[in-house]
Amino acid sequence: MLQRAGVRMGFRFDNSWVRDLPGTFLSVQPAPAPAPRLLALTRGLAEGLGIDPDWLAEVAAEVLSGRALPEGADPVAQAYAGHQFGGFSPQLGDGRALLLGEVVDPAGRRWDVQLKGSGRTPFSRGGDGKAAVGPMLREYVMGEAMAARGLPTTRALAVVATGAPVLRETELPGAVLTRVAASHIRVGTFQFFAARGDVEQVRKLADYTIARHYPEVAGADNPHVALFDAVIGRQARLIAQWMGVGFIHGVMTTDNMALSGETIDYGPCAFMEGYAPGTVFSSIDHGGRYAYANQPLILGWNLARLAEALLPLFDADQDRAVDIANGYLEGIAGRYRAEWVAVMRGKLGLAGAEDGDGDLADGLLAAMDGQGADWTLTFRRLAGAVGGDASGLAPLFDDPSGLRAWLPRWQARLAPDAADRIRAANPAVIARNHKVEEALAAATAGDMGPFESLVAAVSEPFVEREAYMLPAPQGFGRYVTFCGT
Ligand code: AMP
Ligand code: MG
Repeated sequence: MLQRAGVRMGFRFDNSWVRDLPGTFLSVQPAPAPAPRLLALTRGLAEGLGIDPDWLAEVAAEVLSGRALPEGADPVAQAYAGHQFGGFSPQLGDGRALLLGEVVDPAGRRWDVQLKGSGRTPFSRGGDGKAAVGPMLREYVMGEAMAARGLPTTRALAVVATGAPVLRETELPGAVLTRVAASHIRVGTFQFFAARGDVEQVRKLADYTIARHYPEVAGADNPHVALFDAVIGRQARLIAQWMGVGFIHGVMTTDNMALSGETIDYGPCAFMEGYAPGTVFSSIDHGGRYAYANQPLILGWNLARLAEALLPLFDADQDRAVDIANGYLEGIAGRYRAEWVAVMRGKLGLAGAEDGDGDLADGLLAAMDGQGADWTLTFRRLAGAVGGDASGLAPLFDDPSGLRAWLPRWQARLAPDAADRIRAANPAVIARNHKVEEALAAATAGDMGPFESLVAAVSEPFVEREAYMLPAPQGFGRYVTFCGT
């Protein structure tokens, strides 16, 4: 491995999962791509990992497509279970993904490097283990949009077209995504072993999670209870941030909830345009379980499943363990609300914290509900209404009377620099659904231009690029997204 000032021409893997947690994975080789071609590379992310992006650009088609393994990689499919739409699957696992290994960056942080779409594994069940160009680029652009907003998220390092078709409703070009995550430890990872009664493996996983993500709780009276408490804190904050940016994950299943507190497994997710609490985009979410406004409730539901898996670690006496868990579970709604109010204070341009701030935020949402008011533009245009001029804002509402009644309440609470605060907290650009679809359709047909422009736009969300700021045109219709394809 060659070394160039501060950057490595290699990954220099250090694979703690494989070393420390035998019994939680299966070794699997990726399927070799017949004619790999690099479609997208996140040079800045490579640099952050201490990897030379020029070197990576040269070798990515080979080593990030399954055709060859980068030096030091030890590919494994990780086991996990999960509650999906309320029903428990005791065995899911990496059916189309492989953890290549872990990289420790120059700041000493450890990151998983994972291939997605790299072929079948023993966890594939009926699936082909593959992924298509469109959904992998979708994960890429959504992750970049979230990262640019400062939300904890996995990020794509590269997308490589395999040169082989994948069979969906039609034949589509195949791709492998390489993603970087703080880890892939899921609520479902704990559930997998808890469901088998393997308390020792649950304990090892919990200890590993503490060492990797929550070293500050290692010295607590009961570190496993403190871990649960800390996970609640990170997840409550994450979901509050999702709500702030209008993000709808779409499949907030327990296997898609990461202990690290990162957004993970971008499938049928999308950003909401017109504010409506019941917004659902996913074609399979018929009951609206994972609708926008349900996400904070699902947060608590999923964390209750984590508590169940951890119960034997909380106390040897089951009744006492349940009491401990319930104490924390009862606190989730309040902790989430506090995080949400903090997010909304930022979006509303409020300085300091006052008791009525949550009510004030609720008041704006009530005024927006059912009025077709674009989530992103409404908050961005509040900046112009600080002094009382609602002429930019009101046209976003079908009926702005509720808005007009709310504005004076809000204006009375504002600090002098409110307009600057609002512009700094509310982006001009999100990954608009019609722009995402346009970019993915062009990429699937071989033209990467629109995708590259979109990534550039969402990566600088506070830069006003007109073409990326407007909601979908009328003709775009109701937006429907598809899962795991
Ligand atoms: P996801 O929808 O990506 O969160 O995946 C849910 C579960 O289905 C995981 O166990 C995946 O590994 C599995 N899965 C999704 N798509 C495929 C596929 N094309 N082939 C095999 N397994 C898959
Ligand atoms: Mg998943």
